[in-house]
Amino acid sequence: MSTLSTGPEHDASPIIPIPGCLIPLKTTLETREEVKTLRVHVTAVRPQVASGTLGLIRTLLPKDGGFDLQHLRRFAKPETLPASVVEEYTSLSSSRAEGGERVIFLILAATSLIPSSALAESLEAHLESKVPLVEISVPLLAPTSAAQAVAWSNEYWPCVYKKSNPFGPHPSLVARAQEEVEGGSGRWMGVAWEAARQAADEGVGEGVGVCVVERKAGGEGRCVAVAGDLRWKGWGGRDQGGSGNVTAHAAMRAIGMITNSLSQAIPSSTPTIFQTSQHLPLESSPLIFPPDPDGYLCHDLEIYSTHEPCVMCSMAIVHSRFGRVVFEQRMRATGGICADGEGGLGHGMWWRKELNWTMLGWEFVRDGDPETKRLIDVDEHLNA
Ligand SMILES: [Zn+2]
Repeated sequence: MSTLSTGPEHDASPIIPIPGCLIPLKTTLETREEVKTLRVHVTAVRPQVASGTLGLIRTLLPKDGGFDLQHLRRFAKPETLPASVVEEYTSLSSSRAEGGERVIFLILAATSLIPSSALAESLEAHLESKVPLVEISVPLLAPTSAAQAVAWSNEYWPCVYKKSNPFGPHPSLVARAQEEVEGGSGRWMGVAWEAARQAADEGVGEGVGVCVVERKAGGEGRCVAVAGDLRWKGWGGRDQGGSGNVTAHAAMRAIGMITNSLSQAIPSSTPTIFQTSQHLPLESSPLIFPPDPDGYLCHDLEIYSTHEPCVMCSMAIVHSRFGRVVFEQRMRATGGICADGEGGLGHGMWWRKELNWTMLGWEFVRDGDPETKRLIDVDEHLNA
């Protein structure tokens, strides 16, 4: 395995991979404790007319008015339902219950789509009998595990676990990607930390660095850009106050370097978004490869960052379409990636359905080593 040298005048000290492991990030939806529910109209009908009743609903409200109810059993026998649902229905239809006639329960429609009076009227015209409607809550999204499906079935309504994850990337996708990424992650984190060290030592920026890796067909991956933070370069330094040059954050500079390379490879292509040029020794290492000129910005590239990218950098990472993000130090005050806990902002920008791009994300946790841990403390003031 090749190692990146730290630059022309540092050739004698190749970067040593940092031992550690990857913890998959949680999405904003996965970190939400409470279950999102949907109010629905439910009734019970004789089994002989059950499918006809559903047919009527399908005509009345095609495609369930846009609600995806695939994770819910449409029909349910009384003995599979929470007792409260059956009791409420029975109280409305005492005559039927007394008759002891077998009935099957059925989810009709979301209550927001049609008032119960209008729905009952349509059904009664079709079934030629009184149709008592009950309003209940059911889980809006599919369960993410078999255990959750059982718990929700007991509490709300019979649910089906379809081995999908509506709250984030599918677990098997994450596991496969992690297998590809994990082995080399310590090496790329080592490169990022060396860029951070060079920026801090020179006094041009904070001790923050990133390394961008291109990986083809699950191969080993190669470095296509390294950038350190340069926010204080030409800004008089941290002592002057302010936040320095925000476009010189390490991630922004790395994106700038990639687009620089691409626009050199294809002169007619879009000009560089962020003005940047290589400055730190490591940024011009001969072992940095040019990115694939056919790529769109940072499409499917991996970014390894010493720190959780700030909200601005996170958005730039999303918009330039990175495929994977790995970072080590959480940034409570500024970070845009984490969705969960520790008093962070909770934006979870690596995977949000409402953004036009999602990626996979991990937190890098190094094996306990006080000597290397020291690097992290250098930037603790940023986390205030
Ligand atoms: Zn930033």
